[in-house]
Amino acid sequence: MKSQALPLTRAEATDYRETTRSAEVLTFIDELCAATPLAKRLSLGLSSQGQDIAALVLSDRQCFTPELAHKQKKCIVMVEANIHAGEVEGKESVLALARDLTLTSLGRNILNRTCLVLVPNFNPDGNDIISPENRKLDLLQLEGQDGPESGVGIRYNGEGYNLNRDSMKQETPETQAMARFYQTWWPHLFIDCHTTDGSLHAFDLTFDTSRGNESLFAPVRTFARSMLERVSQSVKTKHDFTSFWYGNFVKENEPLSGWHTYPALPRFGSHYRGLLGRLDVLLETYSYLPFARRCEVMRAWLLELFRFAALKREAILKLLQVERKRLETRALVFDPSLRMAINHGVARQTEDQSLVFEYPAYALQGDSANILSFDLESLAARLYPGRRAKTYKVPHLRAYIPTEEVSIPIGYLAPQHLAEKLRQHGVNFSPAAAGSVHRAERYKILQKEATFSPDVATNVTRPGESEIPLSQKPQPKRFETVLSVRAERCDYTASEGLLWIPVAQRAGTLAVYLLEPHADDGLARWQFLDKDLKVGGYYPVVRVLEHQKPPRKAE
Ligand SMILES: [Zn+2]
Repeated sequence: MKSQALPLTRAEATDYRETTRSAEVLTFIDELCAATPLAKRLSLGLSSQGQDIAALVLSDRQCFTPELAHKQKKCIVMVEANIHAGEVEGKESVLALARDLTLTSLGRNILNRTCLVLVPNFNPDGNDIISPENRKLDLLQLEGQDGPESGVGIRYNGEGYNLNRDSMKQETPETQAMARFYQTWWPHLFIDCHTTDGSLHAFDLTFDTSRGNESLFAPVRTFARSMLERVSQSVKTKHDFTSFWYGNFVKENEPLSGWHTYPALPRFGSHYRGLLGRLDVLLETYSYLPFARRCEVMRAWLLELFRFAALKREAILKLLQVERKRLETRALVFDPSLRMAINHGVARQTEDQSLVFEYPAYALQGDSANILSFDLESLAARLYPGRRAKTYKVPHLRAYIPTEEVSIPIGYLAPQHLAEKLRQHGVNFSPAAAGSVHRAERYKILQKEATFSPDVATNVTRPGESEIPLSQKPQPKRFETVLSVRAERCDYTASEGLLWIPVAQRAGTLAVYLLEPHADDGLARWQFLDKDLKVGGYYPVVRVLEHQKPPRKAE
């Protein structure tokens, strides 16, 4: 194929002054699929405003279904870009890289061992609400980004929801579509592409993986961390970009205050997928780099992650098979020593008496980070790049200490109306046998309060408008229910119409997080059980420790 016939992204065609529109993403995908037998277009479903959320699958031997990918023992790598549709490098790099992997020799040793399932434009509605005011560079606020000059879309979807806070409540069609797609493909490795502003440093990209409940998923988390360190090294040696673990200084003008990462709440996609025992990567290009360079570093990372997945395919498949088996069997019998963290929030009362939560990260003893940054005067003056390079060795705050932990039961009995939510999460359940008796724990509700959820949902931005930057505190639209409870042992007889949800299943650990009343990100927290909750009464979901008696047979 002649090079001039290769499709170009809008960023490439405009010398990185503009970003690709949603309709153009679809045209690009269709042109590529017409030009190569290595690519196929699929659909996740429709966005809130009815646009197709397209996926582009790349592999050899016509491997375009999960069944074939598993049969051909390929490593399935799913990439999500543009979830925050002002952070567009993922979208541009995924499209350009897809073209180069299929129409040049670049993909030869990748597409025979992997199946790449690319979602270049996960938030098509947000993508098209373009304004040069969105993510406008404001170094004094440490906010915004350097280009593209003609503007980008918004952080939220077209209805004002932050899709990267929606994993547990799944209020948007986009999140529900992605959950279905993920459950169908069950990718070994998932990569989520973002752009980050914040503290002044000299890295091109920062990365992270799932956090929280490290001990429950130890082999996968250890593998993920060493994978990221290795790929970071390859990106440095082969492409000359410098990367480090995602974070910010605790205090902007005092780098020695430490380098901290973001909360381990599973409302963030990466931590959500971590509860499923799969490999997960968060990529954040650095906002203050020029747009073209941000696209280059994103491309380098994606390419090296794909190469790693191809090279380590066998080890990855084995690791995740063992992990899945562990998830599917570990709660068959109640083991009180098996504990799970369901809350990392530290409560605080504000001056106006409202209840807020912080999710502090801590540095484990001796855990330090070498942060490439600039001299103190440059940091104080908010200069980027700063006048002099300086490396600070600082505490690395990346461990989360649970404030609530529970033992893992063998299952739950839950009211029927949760069926739809559980189905969305891929949690299996069946009707509970009415009259069956269980050694169980139920929760008495001692207190019920409300707290506001920052950056979860906001005002709808209309085409032609620009979004309100986070520093200007957009109007809060979403609140959470905070429960204080006491567990009580009982013999519990299941009544008619309850659901039985076993924990020994691939989504079982996720089910625990969803169903516990005092989880910081469960269904009760997100108000799906509000109508069943009365202070002094019992929480309607019961923890089963052991089955005692099957239901009595009809006489
Ligand atoms: Zn983002």
